Amino acid sequence: MNEIDDTHSPRKRSWVVSANRPGADFPIQNLPLGVFRTGADAAPRAGIAIGDMILDLAAADAAGLFDGEAALAVTAAAGGRLNILLALGAGPRRALRRQASDLLDADSSLGRRASASAAKLLYPAAQCELLLPVEVRNYTDFYAGIHHARAAGALMMPDNPLPPNYKWVPIAYHGRASSVRISGGAVRRPRGQRRPASDGAAPVFGPCERLDLELELGMIVGPGNALGEPVPIEAAHEQIAGYCLLNDWSARDFQFWEMVPLGPFLGKNFSTTISPWIVTPEALAPFRCAAMERPTGDPAPLAYLHDASDQRAGSIDIQLAVWLRTARMREAGAEAQRIIRSNARHLYWTPAQMVAHHTSGGCNLMPGDLIGSGTISGPERAELSSLLELTRGGAEPVELANGERRSWLEDGDEITFTARCERDGFVGIGFGFCSGQVTGD
Ligand code: CA
Repeated sequence: MNEIDDTHSPRKRSWVVSANRPGADFPIQNLPLGVFRTGADAAPRAGIAIGDMILDLAAADAAGLFDGEAALAVTAAAGGRLNILLALGAGPRRALRRQASDLLDADSSLGRRASASAAKLLYPAAQCELLLPVEVRNYTDFYAGIHHARAAGALMMPDNPLPPNYKWVPIAYHGRASSVRISGGAVRRPRGQRRPASDGAAPVFGPCERLDLELELGMIVGPGNALGEPVPIEAAHEQIAGYCLLNDWSARDFQFWEMVPLGPFLGKNFSTTISPWIVTPEALAPFRCAAMERPTGDPAPLAYLHDASDQRAGSIDIQLAVWLRTARMREAGAEAQRIIRSNARHLYWTPAQMVAHHTSGGCNLMPGDLIGSGTISGPERAELSSLLELTRGGAEPVELANGERRSWLEDGDEITFTARCERDGFVGIGFGFCSGQVTGD
């Protein structure tokens, strides 16, 4: 889970010079997987982000730059979807990382060979269209951010914000896979039904008036498990082939009217946005950290959710940020403003615990399934990772630098998530962007 090897060496530099810039999201130590195309009519291809370029895996394979398990992994990604590659598990994925690291290395013989044919292997990312990296057949959204659960719960039940099961069960619901979209698209304001203005009145059907974001970590399932065969907690981390950023757009007015008794439906199913690059567990190895320490008095996880190594290193230190750019800011040429910052280490349940719980009843996960962590709020005010929490249900609007205020998202607002991992002695890595712009209904 946290093996450090030569691919993490801070001395490693790439012959793709943009990858060596301080603060680059995609240095040679990252090597995230994705799918891109070079034009609207071009076929989707699997790639690895390196600096501001994309390495075309099939082209590198055709040039004889991969062999063994790494070549197997590239062949598995030939259809322009990564489901089969990720289903192969950690072995081929690690082999691909090792050889891609060697291939892009400024100081290796393979790197020198590859750099000689760079024009055939690399595309400028800015000239490519990024696509959904996997076919998402199932999407599950957890509720593992305890600070979110507490802050959101307090708006409804101030005296008892956490449900009684919260510290025992990694709570989740089954979301909608068909409306998972890649970063960069428009998010159309949904229509739906909201609570009547007064008792006895009819509910209103119309455009959402309380459109919100939720800052989450997305997890992509690798091999999956057979129906009826739970994944034990000790092996659960092996099921996660990579991580991305996820915006679980939420229509709060619909959600709070519809959610009892069966949970979210139209309040959530109109759109979910993910970032295009799958950051692998291997790339994240240096940034592993202990599971959140449970406060005194909290119950220990039940045995099927408890594993010593998961408790020791099952969480990940990922700095998260939410940026807002309104239509007026765009017109004025102003940059996006950061409105929220948080960290993935604030999750109460680890990714492995989510997988172990998800499959504990026998449910089968499939390659490419998407798992959302739940909104990752932190303990501080600036870490409340949805507008619901940040504005206290709309009562305390966010003040922007240009004088605008936001209780909820307005048409033209663009929301972007970014994320970075940093640790002394290692080269930091980033996740790229997860963005979407709200358009009218
Ligand atoms: Ca959510």
